Amino acid sequence: MADYIKFLGTAGGRFVVATQQRYSAGTWLSLSGQNIMLDPGPGTLVRCWASRPKLDPRHLDAIIISHHHIDHCTDANVLVEAMTEGGYKRRGALFAPREALETDSPLCRYVQEFPERVVPLTEDGQYELGPVRFSTVAHQHSVETYGLIFESEGKRLGLLVDTAYFDELPDHYQGCDMLVINVVLANRDHPATTRHLSLWHAEQIIQQAQPNHTILTHFGMHVLQNKPWEIAGEMSERLGLDIQSARDGMKVEL
Ligand SMILES: [Zn+2]
Repeated sequence: MADYIKFLGTAGGRFVVATQQRYSAGTWLSLSGQNIMLDPGPGTLVRCWASRPKLDPRHLDAIIISHHHIDHCTDANVLVEAMTEGGYKRRGALFAPREALETDSPLCRYVQEFPERVVPLTEDGQYELGPVRFSTVAHQHSVETYGLIFESEGKRLGLLVDTAYFDELPDHYQGCDMLVINVVLANRDHPATTRHLSLWHAEQIIQQAQPNHTILTHFGMHVLQNKPWEIAGEMSERLGLDIQSARDGMKVEL
């Protein structure tokens, strides 16, 4: 089967999550036959089964947490249980920053006993999952956070999760065939303490990194009010690159 990515949820920002204007479920990746759940926020288990066709979390090979903010990992516990058949079958892998594994995060300690492997993510780390390789990019967020670059079937997929903008950020994602960017903010002029990307920042990154295909997701309230599908279309025309905004349930082949 061809590699694909399915957005079970596209919510970013607390208000969008709280109101479920967009679902806050995670992103399902199918790469070289490996099933990977990235950042299972609230509702992920429900959206797996509501998906058409259904996605069975018992078939997951790995769960990856980019950081332990609640919209990225509240359903991790229940998905680890599903992946390991309630902890009775030691299988699969859980990847998460050390801070998420060792501090007071939503990831339960007892659940961490269930997977075959629990792997702390570190800066510039290199990881293997069957035939899939991926590496981390240290982001600047209020907790330990890593962006991810996957290599599968000769393609590179970058997942640029929550972060403040910093000058070297676009360089890390150069050479990606597809880039997924979390864009929480509409307006560039937010206090630095917000530590999220705006639409303006996303455009700078795309312009510098030049991915063949970009998908914007993880929308805050103001981005949604500004119709991200129209903004992505305009950006696409300005840059001459393929850019689209994610919808809940959207599946894209790599
Ligand atoms: Zn966050």
